[in-house]
Amino acid sequence: MELATMLGNKLGKRGKALIQLIDKSRAHLWKPLLHEIAAGSMDLGVHELNYLAQSHWHHFRYRLGEMIGLDKGRREVQVAPVLDEDGSEITPQRVFRYDTLVIAVGSLTNDFGTPGVKEHAIALETSSEAARFHRRLVNALMRAHAQPGRFRPEQLQVAIIGAGATGVELAAELHNTTRELVAYGLDRIDPDEDIKLNVIEASERILPALPQRLSDAAAKLLESKGVRVRTSARVAEVLPNGVRLASGEIIPAELVVWAAGVKAPDFLKDLDGLETNRTNQLIVKQTLQTTRDDNIFAIGDCAACAWLGKDVNVPPRAQAAHQQATHMVKQIASRLRGKRLQPYRYRDFGSLVSLGEYTTVGNLMGALVGGNMMIEGYIARLMYTSLYKMHELALHGYTKVALDTLVRLITRRTEPHVKLH
Ligand SMILES: Cc1cc2nc3c(=O)[nH]c(=O)nc-3n(C[C@H](O)[C@H](O)[C@H](O)COP(=O)(O)OP(=O)(O)OC[C@H]3O[C@@H](n4cnc5c(N)ncnc54)[C@H](O)[C@@H]3O)c2cc1C
Repeated sequence: MELATMLGNKLGKRGKALIQLIDKSRAHLWKPLLHEIAAGSMDLGVHELNYLAQSHWHHFRYRLGEMIGLDKGRREVQVAPVLDEDGSEITPQRVFRYDTLVIAVGSLTNDFGTPGVKEHAIALETSSEAARFHRRLVNALMRAHAQPGRFRPEQLQVAIIGAGATGVELAAELHNTTRELVAYGLDRIDPDEDIKLNVIEASERILPALPQRLSDAAAKLLESKGVRVRTSARVAEVLPNGVRLASGEIIPAELVVWAAGVKAPDFLKDLDGLETNRTNQLIVKQTLQTTRDDNIFAIGDCAACAWLGKDVNVPPRAQAAHQQATHMVKQIASRLRGKRLQPYRYRDFGSLVSLGEYTTVGNLMGALVGGNMMIEGYIARLMYTSLYKMHELALHGYTKVALDTLVRLITRRTEPHVKLH
């Protein structure tokens, strides 16, 4: 969405290129907001952006559909038919031609083949999944409130599998919003006694990809909120009313969220011979071109791009996707002028983990702070919010973002903080 918008503004507007964005969704939501939609602290309607309207305002074309195949010889992308809820066809199977193709299909949850995940767990992959989780959460609270007898062992228990940023942020957010929901009048429920949040992580510590100090601080904060953190615990199966660990222990749970790792979509594995790695990511050169076709680029979570100076790849993060989109705008302009492409260098600004509205922990990286600096509290919260603001700026420009922010600050006071959809 960022790349199509920026290219539309730069090239599409002046008729220098025809930009087409193909997406299987009709509206865009910045993925790091999904846990807030799931917990109910954010309203989907306010933050979703319609692709068709955006394409009109920013001089690109939007085509609805899911990419399912590629013919690199003919430079064609194959897109599946789109059906409505009754099964009638909205758009037929189609083919789109290109001179330059950028694949940015993101990532999906990796369930590592664990039995029961598909049937009994919810993954925070799309806004509709996040909204489905939220509805189930509100229903569970209302059911418990209206129920005459004692609660079943799994009732009002939530298991979050995976203590990366998504799992940890969701647990903190749920702690706050469930209390607010109960305070709206569901007074048969005692949040401290009845609602149990369990975070289950296979590694020895939570936030295993982030520095130890950060994970210690986050673990302390979660524990102070009464969240049960289980580390070195591998989930062997998700059951209809809980999860079974590899040790045999069963943790009862009415709601299970799977947030343990990501992989790129499976269709990339056999995409007309493009090179992929074990997690289906397209392997790209430093120019972000795929290794087997210079006309095809890949960016964001679905791209495996070496992190210069380190022996790992660029991590699947919003800041990497944002940087790569910005880099691609220059690359495509250079390509059109027949100039040489430039290598992409990932700049790590650190990581921030939000633990509810008033607490954020993080570390800042880079020359500005002279290495790795831990931050916490209000400044960290401001920086966390600024990541989303950067995304909004790329999509809307300064004036609209400033006005929207002002309106949100004013209307916030007149709306319930926790959504009840
Ligand atoms: C709950 C959650 C919290 C997160 N928090 C953070 C955070 O705090 N900080 C951070 O840096 N990162 C965070 N991330 C990671 C971040 O969201 C991703 O790294 C980022 O969204 C990747 O951007 P992308 O453009 O590659 O993919 P996406 O944002 O996933 O976009 C992919 C797009 O491709 C479309 N698509 C997929 N397949 C097809 C197809 N076959 N055909 C057509 N269209 C298709 C999808 O509809 C979607 O619009 C979080 C992720 C989640 C899920």
